[in-house]
Amino acid sequence: RTAVVLFTRDLRVHDHPALATACAAFDRVVPLYVLDPALADRSPNRTRFLHQSLAGLREALRERGGDLVVRRGDPVAETIRLAREVDAEGVGLSADVSRYAHRRERRLREECDRHRLFLRLFPGVTVVEPGALRPAGGDHYRVFSPYHRSWLAARWREELAAPKRVELPDGVRVGRLPALPAGESPQAAEGGEGPGRRRLDRWLATLDRYDDIHDDMAGDETSRLSPYLRFGCLSPLAVANRAGDRNGPFVRQLCWRDFYYQVTAAFPEISTKAYRRGATEDWRYDAEAMAAWTEGRTGMPIVDAGMRQLRAQGWMHNRARLITAGYLTKVLGLDWRPGVEVFSRWLLDGDVANNSGNWQWVAGTGNDSRPYRSLNPVRQAERYDPDGRYVRRWVPELASVPGKAVHQPWRLPDELRRTLDYPPPLEVPGADPVWLR
Ligand code: FAD
Repeated sequence: RTAVVLFTRDLRVHDHPALATACAAFDRVVPLYVLDPALADRSPNRTRFLHQSLAGLREALRERGGDLVVRRGDPVAETIRLAREVDAEGVGLSADVSRYAHRRERRLREECDRHRLFLRLFPGVTVVEPGALRPAGGDHYRVFSPYHRSWLAARWREELAAPKRVELPDGVRVGRLPALPAGESPQAAEGGEGPGRRRLDRWLATLDRYDDIHDDMAGDETSRLSPYLRFGCLSPLAVANRAGDRNGPFVRQLCWRDFYYQVTAAFPEISTKAYRRGATEDWRYDAEAMAAWTEGRTGMPIVDAGMRQLRAQGWMHNRARLITAGYLTKVLGLDWRPGVEVFSRWLLDGDVANNSGNWQWVAGTGNDSRPYRSLNPVRQAERYDPDGRYVRRWVPELASVPGKAVHQPWRLPDELRRTLDYPPPLEVPGADPVWLR
């Protein structure tokens, strides 16, 4: 008896419910990844991370006697073709929430039915499955706090060990992984379950400090596990279990991740349409301001620092994401959708639910119960980068400006300011921001 396990964004062998179940129930298991041209080339950084993760997954499966079968094309057609080639009874797959994933699942189900194959969906992309928790009278939680309470009280599934053996049927053509593509960010993290597990091990040693340091932009001591969670190199449930204290501040962040997944499952238009009914969307159009923001030359140091970290590392500190996104939407008055696009091109962890969900939260079109709040970027900078170290690290033009003066170069004496190759802050017609007065 044979089954196919279709991998998508769950590129690991530990705590992989679809793989573990198939290995327990079938004599032979064919792990498959389909390189889907419809998803290719959106982000060179993520493409590189994906290929590193696939290489790692193949190695882990080979160590267990199996292999990763790699095909290129439409994932539905390729899965069915392979299932028929190996005479499989059906297909297992981790359930996912984006509109694209939903469509893929639906088409796969139709084709499996047509070919008398079973299709079984498994959990594993989140700690608690989207849709498992529902408020009275609703299909999903619209506000985080009640979701968090019910998430903490929920029974989590059992974590599963990696299978000891994966038996591949004889004669399957496994296919080659293409050469490692180039990314765009020189300091991007390396993809794969191995690097993810090593990062988790190292980082857990500092877990106790998380509450104190997670907003310290220069200290940079958050877990940086997000790309590994994005590609499923790590199981979010396993990460939460390793962190131990469910009530702790770190596990709470994993709940935010689950929260946006259940929002996205219920509202798959999240990357294009305002989530909140009645949200005002009267954005300005200003191509120059948009370009300056994208390239990190707005003249607002903390914003430029964040955008440059994004380009250099394919990752940005959460506080910098809040500040840069708030600056684009609430200060420059520009639409959040192009902001989502820019983040999505560069972020290793960029995904529909977390990227769009957080952007909508910041823009006031999403799940924030105080949609009109606006962050003052200078106050944020002085609070979360009090010595200016984060800014000096990422904006070398300002490296000579000491202390927190770096946050307001427009206040420096003229003769000093003229020596800096750094622009004045962008002006917004009709706006008179307090920090410039
Ligand atoms: P840690 O602080 O160590 O947190 C641990 C994990 O919790 C993270 O890896 C992540 O999986 C989860 N998490 C933390 N904060 C959030 C949050 N606000 N929402 C959802 N999950 C969270 N996160 C993404 O994974 N992908 C994105 O595309 C993304 N886009 C964002 C866009 C904006 C405008 C903002 C404000 C935030 C965005 N985030 C996104 C959330 C957050 O910034 C990152 O998850 C976090 O910075 C990743 O770093 P870390 O792994 O060190 O986080």
